[in-house]
Amino acid sequence: MRDLSKDRSLLAINSATVKPWTLEQLVEGCVRTGITAIAPWRDIVQAAGVEKAGSLIRAAGLSVTCLCRAGLFPAADEAGRRAALDDNRRAVDEAAAIGARSLVLIAGGLPKGSKDLAGAHRQVHDGIAALLPHARESGVPLAIEPLHPMYAADRACVNTLAHANDLCDQLGDGVGLAVDVYHVWWDPDLTAQIARAGKRILTYHVCDWLVPTRDLLLDRGMPGDGVIDLRSIRAMVEATGYNGHIDVEIFSAQDWWKREPSDVLRICLERHQTVV
Ligand code: ZN
Repeated sequence: MRDLSKDRSLLAINSATVKPWTLEQLVEGCVRTGITAIAPWRDIVQAAGVEKAGSLIRAAGLSVTCLCRAGLFPAADEAGRRAALDDNRRAVDEAAAIGARSLVLIAGGLPKGSKDLAGAHRQVHDGIAALLPHARESGVPLAIEPLHPMYAADRACVNTLAHANDLCDQLGDGVGLAVDVYHVWWDPDLTAQIARAGKRILTYHVCDWLVPTRDLLLDRGMPGDGVIDLRSIRAMVEATGYNGHIDVEIFSAQDWWKREPSDVLRICLERHQTVV
């Protein structure tokens, strides 16, 4: 297992963690703190202008672990599915333009009014299969991120690493996984499914699970403040040969988003070196 105690080169900051910073502020803040990698969301890349975002990131010498995020494939009708696919192709182009090492995909939930979960699963498979040729041509690996089951209806109906690994088996080259501890820490099959994932792990995200959790989406904890055994999970991930960055991704409307982003960045670095 890698020693992070004096290392800042493996830390990546997800732009959601330092909301409301713009891409310019994120780049500048990371450079100032000696952090060398970022994981931006599409909104701040688009706000900066995609080409300009690429130049800015390259000029600062930052790595981009992943672009967050695309996916959301299931739709009630053909027009909806086509719109989702078009948007996903644009996301692939954005990822290529900023040199992202992967594009994170979340599945999407049930179409409005639908109770057909198996049908939604099929649409996710077919949507990724349709996106894949463009992603391969563009050299952008797709990272399927299974989300915690509480999001199955409205955000993502791929909820376990087992399901995401199955999709990778079915879809072949160009598809891998985003492992986010927030979504997978509870899974009794975690050890086996991370080992099964092997070289498919494209990006690794950390935060913490707070008890109690006050909001299903926006109450993630800073690493070390919750109940996730971060060290054990990182050991499993690194045992697969994963040697990439560790992205800190925190959505926290009540706490971290109310603080000064520069302080949040400093605390992320401190936790990276002590508890991740
Ligand atoms: Zn994530």
